Amino acid sequence: MLSEKINIAIIGGGIVGCWMALELSRSEKDVFLFEKNPGITTGENQSSRNSGVNHAGINYDPDTRPLKARLCVEGNRMWEDFCAQYSLPFIKVGKLMVALREEEDRELDLYERRAFQNNVPDVRKITAEEAREIEPNVKGKSALLIPSSGVFEPTSLLRQVYFLASNQGVQFMTGTEVVGIDAQHGKLSIKIRYQDGSMDWVETQKIINAGGVKAVSLARMVDVDFPLKTALIRGDSMKFNRKARSDLYLKGTNVYPTPRTVKTPFGFQSTVGVHLTPMFDIIDGKFVIGDTVMVGPRLTVVNSDDDFQTPMPEPESFVHDTGCFFPGLKAVDLTPNFGGIQARLDGYPDFYIARDRLYDDIVHLAGIDSPGFTAAPAIARHVVNRFFESPA
Ligand SMILES: Cc1cc2nc3c(=O)[nH]c(=O)nc-3n(C[C@H](O)[C@H](O)[C@H](O)COP(=O)(O)OP(=O)(O)OC[C@H]3O[C@@H](n4cnc5c(N)ncnc54)[C@H](O)[C@@H]3O)c2cc1C
Repeated sequence: MLSEKINIAIIGGGIVGCWMALELSRSEKDVFLFEKNPGITTGENQSSRNSGVNHAGINYDPDTRPLKARLCVEGNRMWEDFCAQYSLPFIKVGKLMVALREEEDRELDLYERRAFQNNVPDVRKITAEEAREIEPNVKGKSALLIPSSGVFEPTSLLRQVYFLASNQGVQFMTGTEVVGIDAQHGKLSIKIRYQDGSMDWVETQKIINAGGVKAVSLARMVDVDFPLKTALIRGDSMKFNRKARSDLYLKGTNVYPTPRTVKTPFGFQSTVGVHLTPMFDIIDGKFVIGDTVMVGPRLTVVNSDDDFQTPMPEPESFVHDTGCFFPGLKAVDLTPNFGGIQARLDGYPDFYIARDRLYDDIVHLAGIDSPGFTAAPAIARHVVNRFFESPA
């Protein structure tokens, strides 16, 4: 059982909730984090099931997606420092965004300008020959070289943030689901359900809703007319061995097409497209770029946040999406990798980070889809600066 009254209740122990816990516990006492999964890296959440790319931040228009534009770039740098400090699996492999046709070549100019606008360092357009020097098997008309993009092994990073927050005094209540929020009568309380089915009410001063794909449902527990809706989209990936044949060989750069769109129940939305991302291996106790390359994610709209049953797309569709810039890949080279589900917001392309419309002591973080892992440390700092250190 918990003490009767706590200071801060964070709902959700993904990377955003864990970073919130770490940041808040530097100055606040009695910080509790409630996570319905039995452990921080067990069960299904986005933070344990993603492509592991430290995004540079060139995809986000600062006029329409200001938080993604700023927090992705800040988070990218914060992860680089954090991973160096704790010797975590992180390599700044860079990224090529490949243009295949004339109009895509012009798109690269747009992203180069945006990189400058968003303060992403050293981005430049290169010729097809220069791109082939970086990745000999990649074909295209031209490419954008984005050196600050990297790869990480997400669960190692998540675990490190969890350990640090835990050592700083955060109480992690895993296997504990928040099933209700009551904000009436001048006090805030959350209703929790333990794994054995028993229930409890806990009074708290503040609530941070970092529930990932459940963030909107959690917001509705306190504001039934919460204005946003979510579409659930599963991203499936496959993998191949880069040393299986000479035409499959990749030196180890992230290789992307120009951005694509995905059809959601709310219309078309922008996405990074099916890409090639090197995966880690452990050799002599050290994390290195291994022989496995991820291809994905290929996106499918699903109806529930545990729908890993709807069949994943056929290998041929991954080949179809990447063959234009990586022609060596064949369907027989591919084996299944992982799937992860994210929630896109209807008509709201940015991260939604705001106080509850009715209760000032509740902050909702919804629509934290990609690049949410990259941005997580900066999201936490933004929330602390905006909602905790300045007056309401
Ligand atoms: C296929 C895929 C690929 C991606 N690739 C990248 C990438 O390469 N780079 C990148 O930066 N981002 C990527 N992302 C996005 C990134 O993974 C997410 O933005 C990020 O992990 C979101 O973290 P979160 O903490 O908000 O959510 P989550 O990790 O989903 O955590 C939310 C947590 O809340 C818990 N929870 C929910 N409801 C309750 C409740 N009622 N009570 C208690 N606990 C609750 C859940 O169990 C969960 O653990 C990808 C996402 C997917 C799906």
